[in-house]
Amino acid sequence: MTETEREFFRKAKEAEAAESLKEPPAVEPTPTPAPIQPTAINHAESFVWWARRNKGNLFIWRCGCGTDTGIKNRVVMGKRKCPGCGDPITLEGIDRSLEQDEVTRLQTIKNERFTQFITTVVIVTFGILFILIKHR
Ligand SMILES: [Zn+2]
Repeated sequence: MTETEREFFRKAKEAEAAESLKEPPAVEPTPTPAPIQPTAINHAESFVWWARRNKGNLFIWRCGCGTDTGIKNRVVMGKRKCPGCGDPITLEGIDRSLEQDEVTRLQTIKNERFTQFITTVVIVTFGILFILIKHR
C-alpha cells in the first residue's frame, strides 16, 4: 500500500465514523401554548375596571342569547335575570366572563401606561426646550 492509498483509506474511515456519529434529525417538540387563563385575578377589581369604562359605571354582561345587560354591582346579583331570555345572571357567570377578558384588560392597562409614559416624555421635553429658549 502506498502512502497515498493509506491516506485515502484513513480519510474514508474518518468519514464513515463521522457519518455514524450523526444523529437522526431531531424532532422539534411542539411548544405547548401558554395557558390563556391568568393565574390570579381579582374579580372585584376587574369588574370595577370594566364598569368604569362604560357609561353610568355599568358592567356590561353579555348573555349567551346575545342580550347585553348593564350591571352596577358584581356581588348583589340575587334576582337579576337576562331581559332577553330570562336566564339568571350569576356571580359565577360574571366571574368567568371577567376571567376571559382579563388578558385584554391587562394588555389595555399596559398600553395605557405606555401612552402615559410617552405623553410625559413629550411634555418634559417641550418644557426643557421652552426653558432653554427663554434663557438664551
Ligand atoms: Zn339571555
